[in-house]
Amino acid sequence: MEKVVVNQDLCISCGMCVMRNEKYFEFNDDAKSEGKNISIEEDDKKELLDIVVSCPTEAITIVEEK
Ligand code: SF4
Repeated sequence: MEKVVVNQDLCISCGMCVMRNEKYFEFNDDAKSEGKNISIEEDDKKELLDIVVSCPTEAITIVEEK
């Protein structure tokens, strides 16, 4: 499955990804964004790719996981 992953060292907690998409992103106890452990649906991919390139610190990646 493909899912979103946020590099915790890079995230500056700006909130953009969580505000734009709470289906795939949530804040953790460190107030950093975290990708939820769910498989990306095809219909959501375009929007997620846009969020990936919009992150100011390039902290978000989409990874393939078995
Ligand atoms: S957009 Fe980037 S820096 Fe901002 S909260 Fe999301 S992962 Fe963190």
